[in-house]
Amino acid sequence: MDLTCPAEWLPRWTGLRPTAPALRWDGGAWMWAELAERVGRAGRALETLGVERGQRVGVSVSNRPEMVVAFLAVTRLGGVFVPLNPRLSAAEVAVVVDDCEPRLLIGEAGGLDALPSGVAVTAVEELLVEGPAPAVPAVLPRSEDPIALLYTSGTTGRPKGAVLTHRAFAATAENSRRALDLTSADRHLIVSPLSFTGGILTSLQPALATGGQILIEHGFDAGRVLHVLRTERPTVFMAVPAMLALLARHPDFSPDALRSLRYLGSGSAPVSPALFETYRRAGVEIGHAYGLTEGGGLSAVLRPSEAAAHPGSAGRPCALVELRIADEHGVPRPAGTVGEIQQRGPSVMTEYWGRPDDTREALNSDGWLRTGDLGRIDEDGYLTVVGRSKDVILSGGINVYPAEVEAVIARHPDVVEAAVAGVPNEVFGETVAAFVVARPGRAPFPDELREFCSGALADYKIPKVFHWPDALPRTASGKIVRTALR
Ligand code: ATP
Repeated sequence: MDLTCPAEWLPRWTGLRPTAPALRWDGGAWMWAELAERVGRAGRALETLGVERGQRVGVSVSNRPEMVVAFLAVTRLGGVFVPLNPRLSAAEVAVVVDDCEPRLLIGEAGGLDALPSGVAVTAVEELLVEGPAPAVPAVLPRSEDPIALLYTSGTTGRPKGAVLTHRAFAATAENSRRALDLTSADRHLIVSPLSFTGGILTSLQPALATGGQILIEHGFDAGRVLHVLRTERPTVFMAVPAMLALLARHPDFSPDALRSLRYLGSGSAPVSPALFETYRRAGVEIGHAYGLTEGGGLSAVLRPSEAAAHPGSAGRPCALVELRIADEHGVPRPAGTVGEIQQRGPSVMTEYWGRPDDTREALNSDGWLRTGDLGRIDEDGYLTVVGRSKDVILSGGINVYPAEVEAVIARHPDVVEAAVAGVPNEVFGETVAAFVVARPGRAPFPDELREFCSGALADYKIPKVFHWPDALPRTASGKIVRTALR
């Protein structure tokens, strides 16, 4: 059995533990055998619709069990899964459709109108109707075949489709298995949208590979998630900092709700020291992960047991990941110095779909992926992410890293959240501007905040300008859109 091919995972667990629960959601549950039966049925329907190996299939389905079926059915046939956020407008979906020319779009029965015209469309419900015996594909995909096209959310401009292979998905699952010590006894709570890397790749694949139980939440609702934590007792939950912050503020937040979690991880953005502390007081150490879609979603992991000794770090490279810090010419930099984080290994994308120039820029000939993120790796191999290179503010010739300034501002008790960006300045080129969401009812307090920062930051890093928006502009995946701030 070739476990570097995710198509092997479902038959494996169906054979070994057919009646063990595979998938649970609000309102239902399927055992592995039931899941496999539905995947077979959907595969047959997809064949009837003409889906063939190598063809792209766009899937715009929210976090429902059918989304998992669609993923397994499309990719087992050798089709290339293209997840689409169901909240995208038809025009936004059309950009992706023009780019990757899918054979078929799969939507939800009630949401087909939001899909662009000019391409075959089917409802995911249609794939699951009772029918003839499920098909078993004659040939399984090879590990070097593409499994998915994952479009980056676009905080950096036009969405680009990262092409990932079956082997890359398997490598991410293996990286997660080793970093989190996953077994089939784990119960994985998945709240992140399955249309995002954090859902479909870094959360779902490790669970499928290791045969754990998958608990799917339809969306993020702090009260509901706390209820699920108490009643379903998941052991693994990969969250993002915004979710952790909202959970901590909910009246039902308590040590008891977190007790079952063996790994509570945060990824995709920096975690503030205050958030680590809040969870520590509630009896749980947060783990921290760093990754990007192009690198397979999971590049480094800080285990919860290491968190207290390595504050601010994103941990060490995963088992099948090589990380280095290099300058713009690809020359490695010494331990402890800031430079670009570069990644190599089987989980890295093969290319950007249809964009040879962008691919050449992102992947050098030795297979190193230029992440566009800045960081440093200390003598013991621990990575600290400093920010994105394009977000660095160059003020009077000196680099200012927004994340560092944001972390200080966020410590002020009246600050809900803050973002920092460079705004054009005639004298300095750029100057530091802060966008601060204050506690409701609190009048702007720029002088107080400047004073607050002065204890922790050099003067050139202290924001010169303050803005007081009600909220920060964010992408669908919750990332701050810095271009909008500028
Ligand atoms: P785009 O590249 O268009 O902005 P995106 O933000 O959706 O798309 P992702 O692959 O989802 O791209 O996000 C990866 C990025 O998130 C990383 O390159 C890094 O900048 C940031 N990131 C991920 N993990 C961390 C972390 N632990 N700490 C700080 N930043 C992180």
